[in-house]
Amino acid sequence: INILAIESSCDETSAAVCSSGAILSNRIATQAVHAAHGGVVPELASRAHMQNIVPVVDVALKESGMQLGDMDAIAFTQAPGLIGSLLVGGQFAKSLSLALNKPLIAVNHMQAHVLANLIPEHKPSFPFLCLTVSGGHTQIVKCTAPTKLEIIGETIDDAAGEAFDKAAKMLGLPYPGGPLVDRYAKEGNPNRFQFPEPRIPGYNFSFSGLKTAILYFLRNAGTAQVYKEEFAATEAERKRFIDENLQDICASVQQRIISILLNKLGRAAKDLGIKDLCIAGGVSANSGLRKAFREMGEQQGWNTFIPDFQYCTDNAGMIAITGYYKYLERDFADLSIPSMARGF
Ligand code: ATP
Ligand code: MG
Ligand code: FE
Repeated sequence: INILAIESSCDETSAAVCSSGAILSNRIATQAVHAAHGGVVPELASRAHMQNIVPVVDVALKESGMQLGDMDAIAFTQAPGLIGSLLVGGQFAKSLSLALNKPLIAVNHMQAHVLANLIPEHKPSFPFLCLTVSGGHTQIVKCTAPTKLEIIGETIDDAAGEAFDKAAKMLGLPYPGGPLVDRYAKEGNPNRFQFPEPRIPGYNFSFSGLKTAILYFLRNAGTAQVYKEEFAATEAERKRFIDENLQDICASVQQRIISILLNKLGRAAKDLGIKDLCIAGGVSANSGLRKAFREMGEQQGWNTFIPDFQYCTDNAGMIAITGYYKYLERDFADLSIPSMARGF
C-alpha cells in the first residue's frame, strides 16, 4: 500500500510517501517569514503553503523513488490547525485524489502526532499512553489501537509549546523560542530559580500560572519579592538580569515545564497500570524532556518511546503512517469533507 501524505496545518509544508507502514521520504519546508513577526501570521502561512506545496510534493515523490501513479491513496491533514493553511493542503490532496481516481484519507493532526510512535520498527504495544505536547495542544492520550484514541487529560489554558514560546518571548528570544530555551537550558542550573507547580485536578494541565510567574519574576529582575509590583525593575535592570542569567532562567523554566508534564503522565500510568509510554509533538523534541522521560521509565520499569526528531514537529510522515492505518480500515473520506480549525 503506497500513500502520499500532505501536512499543512500550521507553518510547515510537508509531503511524505509511505509504503506499507515504512516511510520512504518525509520532506518539510519550514516557513521562515514568520520569525520577523514573533509568531505565525495565518495569511502569510497560506501564501507560503501555496508556493511550497508543488515543489515539496515533487521532491518527496522523487526521494521515494515512486511516481504519482504508484500511489494507492492520498492522505492529508484535515484538522485541527489554521483554516487557511489546512485548506491549501486539503484542496491539493483532493485534486490529486480526483485526478488519480484514488481514495482520499482525512487525517487528524493530533492523532498523527501520537501515531508518529508507530513509525519505527520498535513500537509500543497496546494499550499505551502518549503525552502529546505541541504548539497548540497538551494531552495525555490513551491509545488502545492505532485508530482508537481517547484523551484522558489536557491543558485547561496554554499548551506546553506555548509556555516555552511565551517564556522565550519574555526573555527577548525570537520565535519560535522553544528550541532556543532548550539550547540555553543545557548550560544552565535548573535549580537556581523556583517556579510554581500548579495544582490541577486529574490528568489536566495548566501553564498560565507559570507564564504569570515568569512575567513577574522578570519584572522584578529576579529579586526575592517576585510577586510585588513595587519592586519593579527598570528596563535596563531587567535586560541586564536576563543577559547575566539567561542559561539559569531557561534551565529553571524548562525543568518546571518538564516536571508538570511528567508528574501527570506518571500518575496516569500508575493509575491505569499502563507500562508503555510515548511522547509526541514538537515539544517532544526538547532534549531535557526526552532525558527526563527516559529516566522516569528506567526508574519505574516502564517502556518509553520517542519519535525520531523529524517526526516530532509537524511533518507529513506522521500523516502518512496514520493514513496507512486508516487505509487498512478502508476509512476513506468524501471529496466534500471540510477542513476544520478545531476538533480531535
Ligand atoms: P499543534 O500540533 O498543537 O497543532 P503545532 O503543530 O504548531 O501545534 P508542533 O509543530 O508540533 O506544534 O510543535 C511546535 C512547538 O514545539 C513550538 O511551540 C516549539 O517552540 C516547540 N518546540 C520545538 N522544539 C522544541 C524544543 N527543542 N524544546 C521546546 N519546545 C520545542
Ligand atoms: Mg510549526
Ligand atoms: Fe503539530
